Amino acid sequence: MKDANCIFCKLANGDIPTNTLYEDADFRVFMDASPATKGHALVVPKEHFADVYEIDADVLGKAVQVGQKVIKHVTPILGCDGYNLVQNNGEVAGQTVFHFHLHLIPRYKDMNNEGIISWIPNSVDAEELNALKESLKLD
Ligand code: 5GP
Ligand code: ZN
Repeated sequence: MKDANCIFCKLANGDIPTNTLYEDADFRVFMDASPATKGHALVVPKEHFADVYEIDADVLGKAVQVGQKVIKHVTPILGCDGYNLVQNNGEVAGQTVFHFHLHLIPRYKDMNNEGIISWIPNSVDAEELNALKESLKLD
């Protein structure tokens, strides 16, 4: 299904031109318009799914496979030293376009970690962690 009001539906399906790196029946991979680093690209399904909760599990699996295929091809061309695969869900998590997409962000040694994806590691009480695990675990 496509959403007539969704910009990524239009981009993924070729209704609006993009700088496309790869396309198949289900996906388009195109350059991010405001790249975090040189080579930042997006894996975008042609069908509309808002986020990881909505996306069909097979399409989700294929998105990662398409991402792997693209980064293996472009890594020696870009000469990058590492990669972040990032996928945001919900405004609070930084999602701004509500059509599922997987960010492919090349990382370069000379960036000095500038703009690197990071978080502050916290300490946690062992009992608290165990209780949390008990409340969360899948049967
Ligand atoms: P999010 O914040 O939702 O995880 O990521 C949305 C991404 O889409 C951002 O990195 C943003 O730069 C990119 N983006 C938004 N609109 C367009 C567009 O019209 N064309 C392209 N190529 N990228 C876009
Ligand atoms: Zn869409």
